Amino acid sequence: MNHASLVAPRLSLFHRRLSPLEKMGRNERCWCRSGKKFKHCHLVREALEPINVFEQEQRMFAELRNGYCSLPAADPCSSEIIKAHTIQRRGGLAAISDSNHVLTVKPRMRDMIQSSGKPQPRKIGLKDASVFPGFCSKHDSETFKPIEGKTLNFELSSAFLFSYRAISYERYSKEAEGRFNAMMREVADRGQPFRKQAAMQSFLYDVSVGIEMGKRDMERAKGNFDNLFLTGGYDGFHYCGVRFDRVLPIVACCAFHPEFDLSGTRLQQLGQNKVELDTVTLTVTAFEGNTVAIFGWIGPDDGPARSLSDSLLAIASDRQADALIRLLFIHTDNLFLNPTWWDGLPNKHKVALNNMTRSGTTMRERTAAEYSNATLDLFPAEAMEKVAE
Ligand SMILES: [Zn+2]
Ligand SMILES: [Zn+2]
Repeated sequence: MNHASLVAPRLSLFHRRLSPLEKMGRNERCWCRSGKKFKHCHLVREALEPINVFEQEQRMFAELRNGYCSLPAADPCSSEIIKAHTIQRRGGLAAISDSNHVLTVKPRMRDMIQSSGKPQPRKIGLKDASVFPGFCSKHDSETFKPIEGKTLNFELSSAFLFSYRAISYERYSKEAEGRFNAMMREVADRGQPFRKQAAMQSFLYDVSVGIEMGKRDMERAKGNFDNLFLTGGYDGFHYCGVRFDRVLPIVACCAFHPEFDLSGTRLQQLGQNKVELDTVTLTVTAFEGNTVAIFGWIGPDDGPARSLSDSLLAIASDRQADALIRLLFIHTDNLFLNPTWWDGLPNKHKVALNNMTRSGTTMRERTAAEYSNATLDLFPAEAMEKVAE
């Protein structure tokens, strides 16, 4: 079934653009759309002390530490918001670590600058990998206990919990991105001449439009999950689980709008605001020497999410791991790698995967060729169990 977003008109880029003005009335609303009067906003921006990138980064980290409990529970939260793991540390992260470290594809500002915008994955300790301040300690441990054990059977109830954690994480990160963007619009162009202010504000504004759309979509998806969570039912929830015959060198937890399936067929069109998009969650982790991948979603059983997971199952079972790794690089930076595996990849593969991490940003659009690129031999493994419900 073709998704309605495929024929919806795309938003024009010009529709978003700011129109920067060097001179305005002092009491007019500023051209940067901060909502403030010009006299309190860009009239005085150039005279302010400039902020350096490391200070910006510190502010971002501070913003990212501001958490809340994602659970719509009737019983009260415990007082402490914790660094909740989106991928379980024992079994999951630990299974792909080398001496308690994994690699993250989330760049630091310093790496971005030193590598001219093309950073390499970097080391991170297990206790900091995949965490977000999205649950109180009580609700985190109570809620996810059923999927934190040693073994995992594919069942609706466990698939739902993986999805619920993924959607909570994605909602949190979109919201934190929004807060960070708002903060940058206030400080990034301090002390700069008008020409630079105009360029920086236009860029940040375009980014903010994308963040707002993403935030709205994730809010809506999280709301659907909350409704099921509160009623304890699984109406309209579907999943697909795949178990591999060994541990793959990656773990991940994310939610996204699939744009293509793994054979390169277009599934949905982003950049339009007429049609609601299908959101799919994807968790990849390990249990007892086997990696499992769990897709989950609330919505039609024959929509883009199902098409995506079906396209994985349609691939030869000894090439499904490669397709899954590609998909994760394309869609998430909440993705962790085994250091030895990454170091041993041919350079051309590293370049291709690194480029995929920048897909879907203002730098590049996602392409059918990336989703379907079967020329990359990434990891030999066999898919040995599959469940679709
Ligand atoms: Zn302004
Ligand atoms: Zn709580």
